[in-house]
Amino acid sequence: MSCYRPESAPVAGMVPAAADHNPAALMQPRAPAATPREMKNGARVKSNNVAPQGVYLPNYNILTPHMRSPEYVQMSAAAAMTLGIMSGRMHRCSCTRCLNLLLTYPEGCRANCAYCGLARHREAERDYADRNFIRVDWPAVPLETVIGIVARDGAASPFHRMCISMITHPRSDADAVAVLKRWTDRIDPSAIPVSILSNPTTMAREDVARLRDLGADIFTVALDAATPEIFDRTRGKGVQSPHTWAKYWEILMDARDIFGPQKFGAHIIVGMGETEHEALTLVQRLVDLGGHSHMFCFFPEKGSLMDHLPATPRDQWRRVQLARYLIDYRGVRVEHMAFDGAGRVVDFGVPGSALDAIIDEGIAFRTSGCPGKFRDDVSACDRPYGDSPPSNVASYPFQPGRSDLRKIRRQLRLVERREP
Ligand code: SF4
Repeated sequence: MSCYRPESAPVAGMVPAAADHNPAALMQPRAPAATPREMKNGARVKSNNVAPQGVYLPNYNILTPHMRSPEYVQMSAAAAMTLGIMSGRMHRCSCTRCLNLLLTYPEGCRANCAYCGLARHREAERDYADRNFIRVDWPAVPLETVIGIVARDGAASPFHRMCISMITHPRSDADAVAVLKRWTDRIDPSAIPVSILSNPTTMAREDVARLRDLGADIFTVALDAATPEIFDRTRGKGVQSPHTWAKYWEILMDARDIFGPQKFGAHIIVGMGETEHEALTLVQRLVDLGGHSHMFCFFPEKGSLMDHLPATPRDQWRRVQLARYLIDYRGVRVEHMAFDGAGRVVDFGVPGSALDAIIDEGIAFRTSGCPGKFRDDVSACDRPYGDSPPSNVASYPFQPGRSDLRKIRRQLRLVERREP
């Protein structure tokens, strides 16, 4: 597992403590409860059949309207604030650069991923449009309203990218196409490129090709789990969910063929029981295929089947975040790094002064995702506080400042070397 290069010394003072990572034995989802028949498949919303009126902000005290894509889409609270259709302020962020559009249906997502607030097992508890997702509410908005605002703003739009996020639903493939067509009818995809966050379970190769032909720029697959075992446990048979590792890789390889180098990628959630070496081996595999990885720090989403588990310890997260950046953007290979017996990074494979400079630049610790217009290694998708509270930031949705970098160094446990 270890491979030292002579020019890079191990990082002094960086001996991980026993509880500095989430081990596999700990990260077990609880079992989903059975849903009463009368609450399945959005029955409550469909029987009430309340007509939507404009923007819907999640509200547990009124009947949820009957909203469906492609007429309606959901978006992050950050995107809704940036569009000006929801009031509020984001801590240390003036706006988000990526407009995430999530397909929506009363039946919701038919998958049951253990870490996800949108999962099917929540049907009895909360209507789909009212469920939290990556820590925040997602307002539902008429697609034409969204497109109208972005088209009106033209070159002044704050958005560097739009992303259509599919869910597991029989209409998802057709509606992703419909949303993309309506968008590109009015907005030039070379001005605001479009990414697809796909749902491989319902897709075939021709669906991938169709999205590319209609103007999509980047295609991503949310593998989320770093190993087949964790995939099966958290989003496959282990939680009565339909996804398989093999199908996700089939569509990922289709995307590689159809979209080409640097135009495909995969999401990985760090801290669900994989070792750092396993996560970074996957990052290397994606780079060797010509793609990128987009990383999330595991956070126990309220109401999910993993909400009783600890968030990823910051030192584990920072090590993987830094190592992933080195592999994705600085030409370092996982074989150049060294790992301890628990698979933790103990040497990043870079001479100390070079590593210091990369840490000080801060970009490695920003949110990762599809690129925006600033530079290739700065993501448009900044997902403010999507994987942590603002009080203990995991992915920085802004350029980390000096005090942030001091904190990052402490979390990396490099502080002993820098400040003896
Ligand atoms: S497929 Fe996506 S939206 Fe659906 S439960 Fe899994 S992670 Fe959540």
